[in-house]
Amino acid sequence: MAVPSRGPRGNRKNQNPRRKKRVYHRRKVCRFCADSSLVISYKDPKSLRYFITERGKIIPRRLSGCCAKHQRTLTHAIKQARTIAFLPFVGSVEIR
Ligand SMILES: [Zn+2]
Repeated sequence: MAVPSRGPRGNRKNQNPRRKKRVYHRRKVCRFCADSSLVISYKDPKSLRYFITERGKIIPRRLSGCCAKHQRTLTHAIKQARTIAFLPFVGSVEIR
């Protein structure tokens, strides 16, 4: 495989080393903190399913946006739901 050429002036966006790249990230708000009517329960696999991947892994806090407290209760609920077979330990594996 050939290395793609960058052209005479280069294809990089940021060529100036002095200019710092500004990274904006919106602070995610924990949905359970924002809406107190939402309850995390192992008996509700439908809503818990949102927080697991297709493979059945629990989505980390940096992606789900939950606070530490709610992520903890969420993880606990998912694990409880797994043992009573409401949620899978391993999801379906895509065959290629
Ligand atoms: Zn929270």
